Amino acid sequence: MVRFVHSPRPIRSVLVANRGEIAVRVMRTCKRLGIRTIAVYSDADADAVHVRTADEAVRIGHPPARASYLDMDAVISAAKGAGADAVHPGYGFLSENSAFVRRCEDAGLIFVGPSAHAVELMGSKIESKRIAARVGVPTVPGYHAESQEDKTLFAEAKRIGFPVLIKASAGGGGRGMRRVDHPKNFVEALASAKAEAEAAFGDGSVLLEKFILNPRHLEVQLAGDRCGNLVHLFERDCSVQRNNQKVLEEAPAPRLTDDVRRKLYHAACSLGREISYDSAGTVEFIMEIGSDEPYFLEMNTRLQVEHPVTELITDVDLVEWQLIAAAGEALPLKQDEIQPHGHAIEARITAERADLGFRPVTGEITEVSFPRGVRIDSGVEAGSKVSLYYDSLLLKMIAHGADRPAAIERLVSGLSEMSLLGIATTQAFLRDAIRQPMFRDGEATTRFIEAAFPEGWRPEETELMALRAAACVAWAAPSAGEVNPAWVNPWLQRNAVRVTSAARSAQISLHLKDDYGEMEAEVRVRRDAVEVEAGGRRMIFAPPTADGALALMTPDDGRKFLVRRNAGAVQIARDGLALSVVVQPTIDLSLSHGRVEHTSNQILAPLHGVISKLYVAIGETVAKGAPVLQMEAMKLIHTLSAPVDGQVASLRCAAGDTVPADAVLVEILPSAADEQL
Ligand code: ADP
Repeated sequence: MVRFVHSPRPIRSVLVANRGEIAVRVMRTCKRLGIRTIAVYSDADADAVHVRTADEAVRIGHPPARASYLDMDAVISAAKGAGADAVHPGYGFLSENSAFVRRCEDAGLIFVGPSAHAVELMGSKIESKRIAARVGVPTVPGYHAESQEDKTLFAEAKRIGFPVLIKASAGGGGRGMRRVDHPKNFVEALASAKAEAEAAFGDGSVLLEKFILNPRHLEVQLAGDRCGNLVHLFERDCSVQRNNQKVLEEAPAPRLTDDVRRKLYHAACSLGREISYDSAGTVEFIMEIGSDEPYFLEMNTRLQVEHPVTELITDVDLVEWQLIAAAGEALPLKQDEIQPHGHAIEARITAERADLGFRPVTGEITEVSFPRGVRIDSGVEAGSKVSLYYDSLLLKMIAHGADRPAAIERLVSGLSEMSLLGIATTQAFLRDAIRQPMFRDGEATTRFIEAAFPEGWRPEETELMALRAAACVAWAAPSAGEVNPAWVNPWLQRNAVRVTSAARSAQISLHLKDDYGEMEAEVRVRRDAVEVEAGGRRMIFAPPTADGALALMTPDDGRKFLVRRNAGAVQIARDGLALSVVVQPTIDLSLSHGRVEHTSNQILAPLHGVISKLYVAIGETVAKGAPVLQMEAMKLIHTLSAPVDGQVASLRCAAGDTVPADAVLVEILPSAADEQL
């Protein structure tokens, strides 16, 4: 059933002018309502999840956002060409661009969002603060007037008192923002904030705010329609941030008095009414810890990334409400009919190195599996490529519980159960952050991350070492599909780690390298177990099962690792921490060094790989230890040397050959002296 056919402004089809998780999420509601969905995509997203989720998809240009998702002409002509009734902008990109709203309306397309006028008024932090002041909503003490003279701004900064925060009026996403602690740094910071604002938003004007040392970020969800209704859907707390961008969000806000709640709702609704707000929007506030006076920060005239926490505590589908409002219908519930229940927390999982100041990373997701019991809003799947062109948000995990501890419990479980391989993400950091007492107690401010992890975040050592050890076992184990009895009884058959003596277990030394460091490890394949020694720890694994599953026997409880051997690295994950470990043997595998023993004069392939070089020819004399050939496996180079002095008797491979582990590659006829030994 199509929901809005008989509305004042019928919506039968929606073009979603966005990508990633939000495009998929908007389409989900459209599908439920029987609305046809049209995706747009850049060349970088031709195979993206949002493209395949849509009923139809239109290419709109090259990978850089300016050449595609921000190109108004391309988006509008895609919408017209596909016969869309409406355009949903998602968040970011064109969502808060009043010119785009007007262009849509001029082209006869319904913009699923507020009026161009509201977008325009609230798009300027300076203008929105003036409106707030007009309706009696307190703002952060500061300067937000027209004059942009350096002299005026400096005088105002001194009046406000340092530290001050310089902000781009047109800003968003924390860009164009500078904290200044001392007057001597002001002029320089001002110049760079203005330059950044000019480059990012085409508008260099700034405002000044008193820098609040230890604030909470609170915000109120508003929803309005074109019939004059406006309601709030309670508050969210988004205090956990990195680089002024949200990381964890929840609803309702913990440890808030009813008095502050009332102030927040009243302020948000006054502002919304003042501008006849007619869609979903969010009014943001900041409140110093210990204070009961929230200050208005800005209003976002779109759907927020964190809208799902509100949806889970109110059972309202905010995208549906946006569509209802855009179709000219009245919102289905009045204020007193909206009741919150329980508690919801969202974790943003981004492709970033939490241990390196949240530096974004790129790459390919090789495997992903989502847990049950939480809501997942995702724009990725196995095979998704994460490029530098767009933001680093991959997916959001949202947990709901009867109360805050229940929601925390569920989110920690969800983050521990999800596996995502192939690219560094913030998953394990988020899991650890939520477990912190300060967060559990509801006392997080925007300084939470620095306070909870004063040395920076890093995975806990025991956990990290278990993953590294498992990576060694996975590296040495037979490839998937090749069930190798050698793991059960090492002397029945040879395997990748050469087992040549019935009296001793096979042993190999490995060098490991991953995001968190490098180290040496020793692997011993025993009759019934595999032992790994690394970083002063000894870990014992059960032999890998036929399906490749790996489990630590001690010191652990048999929980399984997820393993994937990829070109160049072993990708491994357990309990929410994932790692890509480059494993390299440190000893020459064809020489014994007293560890791997040779009883024959053959050189065997130490592992499945490609012969990259032959150093010898048939009949050539070689000295013990001289390089004979080179193999490449997992992009690592292994040089195999002559086990004895002698003559090359047979060459059973050529450069370029792919050979299985244990294949006989070269045979050496030992010289007489060697034979006598
Ligand atoms: P943007 O639009 O770039 O996201 P906001 O004004 O919404 O900028 O602020 C983003 C975040 O920056 C806030 O959530 C808060 O953590 C921090 N912030 C903003 N203003 C202040 C202030 N006056 N003092 C301290 N921190 C602030």
